[in-house]
Amino acid sequence: MDSALGPIIGIDLGTTHSSVGVFESGTVRLLPNVHDELLTPSAVAFDQASGRMLVGRAAKDIVALDPTLGALCFKRRIGSAHAYAVGPHQLSATELSAYVLDSLRGDAERALRRSVNRCVISVPAYFAEPQRMATRQAAAVAGLVVERLINEPTAAALAHGMVARSAESTFMVFDLGGGTLDVCIMELFDGVLQVKGVAGESQLGGEDFTAALAALALGRAHIAAESLSLKETVTLHRRVELLKRKLSRWPSAELVVPGREVTLVISAEEADTAYAPLLERLATPCRSALRGAGVAARDLNEVLLVGGATRMPCVQRHVRRLLDRPPTLQADPELTVARGATLHAGMCAMDAALEDRVITDVASHSLGVQVAQLIGTRLVSGRFFPIVERGTVLPASRSEVFGTVERNQHTIVLRVFEGEAREVKDNVLLGELSIDGVPPGNARNVVEVTFTYDLSGILEVQSRLLETEQLCAKLLARDGRTLQRQELEQAQARITQLKMDPAERPAYRELLARANVLWADLVGDDRRALGDAMRDFEAAMATRTPRVFSAAEAVLRSACEHFETGERW
Ligand code: ADP
Ligand code: MG
Repeated sequence: MDSALGPIIGIDLGTTHSSVGVFESGTVRLLPNVHDELLTPSAVAFDQASGRMLVGRAAKDIVALDPTLGALCFKRRIGSAHAYAVGPHQLSATELSAYVLDSLRGDAERALRRSVNRCVISVPAYFAEPQRMATRQAAAVAGLVVERLINEPTAAALAHGMVARSAESTFMVFDLGGGTLDVCIMELFDGVLQVKGVAGESQLGGEDFTAALAALALGRAHIAAESLSLKETVTLHRRVELLKRKLSRWPSAELVVPGREVTLVISAEEADTAYAPLLERLATPCRSALRGAGVAARDLNEVLLVGGATRMPCVQRHVRRLLDRPPTLQADPELTVARGATLHAGMCAMDAALEDRVITDVASHSLGVQVAQLIGTRLVSGRFFPIVERGTVLPASRSEVFGTVERNQHTIVLRVFEGEAREVKDNVLLGELSIDGVPPGNARNVVEVTFTYDLSGILEVQSRLLETEQLCAKLLARDGRTLQRQELEQAQARITQLKMDPAERPAYRELLARANVLWADLVGDDRRALGDAMRDFEAAMATRTPRVFSAAEAVLRSACEHFETGERW
């Protein structure tokens, strides 16, 4: 999708591989890197010859020969203070990610022949705020504004066409990548995707299968791993990776052990035996995700396999046995998340009207305010009162009414926190809003506080003094950033739209006006049928719940179309 601001690219910033795409003419187009590949290794290294930083395959090759010159798998530590030695530099995982993002942006610019500065990035569903914030920071360093972060399983479900099918369903996304296993239980209801439970193994992925296969090969050839030179080890690793991929398709394949003139024929069956301890470890995350979601395996409607390592038949068979159902395979499972992120980028670029119909996220943590509670006769301060609770479908707008601590208190300071702890001191302070002019008298039901939270991580806190109707509002970034002016204006427009009575929205007013004209034209059963659809639509809007009124809207629209064109209703 293009606009004056340029295209929005979709990025899968993976643990071992990353990809980038753009939504064009109604479809996802993944964009190749300089080697004409759709997957770029998430590797960064220092090139001693040129003194420059390299990203991707060249970087991965450098690290293989000298691990002190670069870094791999740093996504695991994004948002932490850990420093990686990259030649003469000390870099954080956030800085390393910025190099990868910059390289992907360059690839996109080359393919699209124009500058790119907006993106959607996918992140694991279990990423907490500091990791999400670090991802945004990395993008900013790479010159990219993050329009939205999307959860990886949500992206996978979008790419799989889950939302378009719009049936209700509960499904599992099983993502086995190069270095991690992420399992997520999701629910689709009325076009809304919700994360119900997540679990994972941060140290289990395709690379471990490669290592197990290498150990098997060395054992078969009676070669001690230590006896190989560094160069031979690197070559062996590359050949074993190839062997692993061949065994995903053929019953057996050959491996020439480097440095020795030994050719081994290894069967898939033999490899599966070597993989057995790794396969055993797939069960625990599946069980904990199901338990977290309160769902039994037999209640799953579908199991979606994502990630390059799910190409292995033994993984497919093991998942099938674990969950007692055949899983759904993806054509290119390592590209599924990138496709979903790109689809989402396309949706972002489209008409804002789409936004409230395709809601694809839930609040990952609760947001609320500090209150004092009366316990017996004692007033206990510093308690957390959640307003938007964890798991709330976003965007959302929620209100609560509070009193003052003292009867004649003139000022109220609202302190806004994020977290789950009962004591605010254990949660994260996002900001404060000071309300002056509180009228004297009654201490109960003094102020209504409304939290409006959109998908970009910006929270609007608004207070309304019930007696004087005096309003006061402030925008807070959930990661505690200071918002830029343009960002503030855009967020304000979106939030106003969210809070606006749906009946006031131009698109809905136009729909009702159109229905009114038709109603005047019709008589009898037709008029009654249209009148019912109009009444349902008005009632649905009064609920101010997007997923309720978008359903009623669809009914009314098709009724109008029917009566205008005379087709079956
Ligand atoms: P991530 O998203 O974690 O970066 P990917 O989804 O790109 O990871 O998956 C990478 C892993 O998939 C690697 O370990 C790679 O060896 C493995 N892989 C890719 N293709 C195949 C295949 N045909 N057979 C077996 N493993 C494969
Ligand atoms: Mg991936």
